[in-house]
Amino acid sequence: MKVQKTIKIPISDKTTKEKLEKLNRLTACLTYGVQLFLNRIIENDVTTVREAEKFRKEIESITGLPSAFVQACRDKALWMYRSYKQQYREWKRSVAKLKKAIKKCKDKRKKRKLEHKLYRLRNREPSLPTVNGKIPVMFNYRIGSIEFSYSAKEFRAKYESITQEEALYILKKVQTIDKFLELAKIASKVRDEEVGAVFKFDGFIGSITPCTTNPPCKYCSRSAGNHPDFAEKPLTIEEIELGAKLIDSTGTKRVELGGGTLWNGAGEKVIEAVKAVKKVSSMDIWINVGPALNKNDLIRLKELGVKEVCSSLETINPKVFKEAKPGDSLEARMKLAEEINEVGLGFKSVMMVGMMLTLL
Ligand code: SF4
Repeated sequence: MKVQKTIKIPISDKTTKEKLEKLNRLTACLTYGVQLFLNRIIENDVTTVREAEKFRKEIESITGLPSAFVQACRDKALWMYRSYKQQYREWKRSVAKLKKAIKKCKDKRKKRKLEHKLYRLRNREPSLPTVNGKIPVMFNYRIGSIEFSYSAKEFRAKYESITQEEALYILKKVQTIDKFLELAKIASKVRDEEVGAVFKFDGFIGSITPCTTNPPCKYCSRSAGNHPDFAEKPLTIEEIELGAKLIDSTGTKRVELGGGTLWNGAGEKVIEAVKAVKKVSSMDIWINVGPALNKNDLIRLKELGVKEVCSSLETINPKVFKEAKPGDSLEARMKLAEEINEVGLGFKSVMMVGMMLTLL
């Protein structure tokens, strides 16, 4: 177990202000760089790095940014335009499909429904990407890396963490309720100072997807040979709607849609479930179905108004992960985490503290 000590060191206001000003100027220049690239990319319908590269020198001289930063702006603008094109292609396909279905349909009522669907779909035509406010730009190896100064490294080495023995010593000392309350008080103080006293209260609907992880995780009841409903019999759309109605009626403002990992892709199932919840309530939604969503699914979920997606890493120790979850992939979960971030959705994760401690 790793317990972290938090020590706050006062830093002069002037230093913080100066650093923030520099960062502000840099992020403003980067945003301007992305906007300039985006304009040229859209005008010329550019989709490859080679074509976009033609504008780099010009944008370097306008913004005064070093080449590596301008390349990062180029990549960001390209990614925005390509995502738009992909969404647009899908939208066009859906419109054509719907038109065909309307043409074929003989039933008047059904036809009216399809026409209404088409009307709504047309109103949702994806729009060209624009820059509103500051845009996050990825720092990569071309730009450099963030390093701690020598004194900061020394400080970290000295104070950052306590040893397992120290942690056990503290726990062994806590033998009475009073001592426990004292420890809990300190833990709460550290939490409040580090992340704030934020409590999120939400409902849970699951399982919306079955689990095809094979072999199952060692801590899962599937490992004991059980066939739990949550892993094998996901809820129907009607059940999801009912669950959402019931949770909403309690005044709860957020709901988690959770399920097992469907390794051949859970995008469609999750999107259907989100639509079902949206149909009957206005609760904020977050998703937790393991690494079964691709980037395109994430973009669609964002469009549907999903607030957060979870990539539950459980542990970041590859050896422990492999031992506890032999049918799962830490790489896939890390990739999902990166994509959640790239798409601009809120990111959630879960850590299982103490899992497979004997391996460490
Ligand atoms: S992913 Fe979840 S449901 Fe699937 S085996 Fe692991 S713990 Fe069980």
